[in-house]
Amino acid sequence: MDFDYDLFVIGGGSGGVRAARIAAGEHGARVALAEEYRMGGTCVIRGCVPKKLMVFASSFPAAMEEARAYGWSADVGRFDWTAFRSKLDAELDRLERAYRSGLSGAKVTVYDTRATISGAHEVTLATGETVTAKHILIATGGRPYVPAFPGSEHALTSNDVFLMDALPDSVLIVGGGYIACEFACIMNGLGVKTTQYQRSAHVLKDFDAEARDLVEAGIRASGIDLQTGTEVASITPEGGAFRVVTKDGREAVFGAVIHATGRVPNVEGLGLEAVEIALGPKGQIPVDDWSQTRVPSIFAVGDVTDRIALTPVAIREGHAFADTVFGGTARQADHALVASAVFTQPELASCGMTEAEAAARGPIEVYSAGFRPMRTSFAGQPDKVLFKLVVDAASRKVLGCHIVAPEAGEMIQMVAIAMKMGATKEDFDRTCAVHPTMAEELVTMRKPTRSS
Ligand code: FAD
Repeated sequence: MDFDYDLFVIGGGSGGVRAARIAAGEHGARVALAEEYRMGGTCVIRGCVPKKLMVFASSFPAAMEEARAYGWSADVGRFDWTAFRSKLDAELDRLERAYRSGLSGAKVTVYDTRATISGAHEVTLATGETVTAKHILIATGGRPYVPAFPGSEHALTSNDVFLMDALPDSVLIVGGGYIACEFACIMNGLGVKTTQYQRSAHVLKDFDAEARDLVEAGIRASGIDLQTGTEVASITPEGGAFRVVTKDGREAVFGAVIHATGRVPNVEGLGLEAVEIALGPKGQIPVDDWSQTRVPSIFAVGDVTDRIALTPVAIREGHAFADTVFGGTARQADHALVASAVFTQPELASCGMTEAEAAARGPIEVYSAGFRPMRTSFAGQPDKVLFKLVVDAASRKVLGCHIVAPEAGEMIQMVAIAMKMGATKEDFDRTCAVHPTMAEELVTMRKPTRSS
């Protein structure tokens, strides 16, 4: 049978764009891609990139304070959201254009419209047109989830934050995952009076408890009113602001309420029933290690598969799919030892197992150094950093590394290489320190803090 394309990709985000470019540009496949919103997807348009730029913007007041402690006369001044937003919009436009030119350079046909699946080899565009393809790749990503409660329609999500016309005077951030914590720190840094509600006892529940505790302390010390064990019962508009009632009956009024209460796979109305693909327990599209669904011609990568919801992982999955199906090189995406960072203030970065995960698996040694770093200590600030290695007692392999420090994300990228190579604690010890740095602690921790 003749198909219109060798590959039809649904979704122009991290995973979809990489798969399309590699399949067409490197392996010569005839590829089309449909994107219903803006090219680049969540990461570029309403995720990693605009968020990190906001992290940078929000970090200046603290830097100014530090500068004063070092003898500079510096004034924080006033943050101009409108000026920042127009620069941000221009930057996102530039990135979107770069994504589009990458696709056109690889000769990918782009449909700027929604696509749904209407058969094992057929997609239907929102225009009504049907297109056939030998293979279909679903890369539709995820979307914010807000639980249903009275007034939940007044809650903003991460999608809305980058589009706000003005910053509110006060904000309630609801949630305790990395996106909630990052937005709380961003808003606080930008001078917005920030409260954060988290349902359970701690934020960042999937991270190492010792590292998480330090970030939690930092969040509180920065002036954010973090209230754990607190859940929203209702939101009611009140004179341009929002009255929030909690499940335990407390009330407060905020200029805006932002829910960062998780993300769900983007599968609504995608037509999966037409090909009898049943969703997994988290609403995800089930795939095997080759990103193949139960329908042999249909594959899925990225957040929609709910494996590891991070941009570099979606990119790897899309690339491995394209190499396998069109490049004659069978390759699976490797999900082991994926490092990640939380861009809070202080920043948290991790690779591998938490202490609790490793301890549940067998005997371990923990090397942990918490201290006030030279830079902020000189400035008279109380900030502490943490460097922690979780080591397998028998093999001596470093199973986990957790860092809470400025630029922790930059540091963990390097540690991840060593861990991926199977580095042992003794390999770390053999490595000479770079002095004076914070990261030298990673190679100078001689005695275990504890064993279990
Ligand atoms: P996406 O990038 O979400 O792309 C999916 C695309 O498909 C979207 O453009 C969507 O419009 C389109 N689409 C959906 N349905 C259809 C359809 N039927 N037809 C046509 N088009 C469709 N990850 C990190 O690694 N580091 C970070 O710091 C980080 N920060 C984040 C901050 C925030 C606020 C958020 C929300 C996410 C963040 N992420 C981060 C996660 C990262 O953005 C995602 O893991 C990544 O974008 C997933 O890529 P994807 O290709 O699966 O989907």
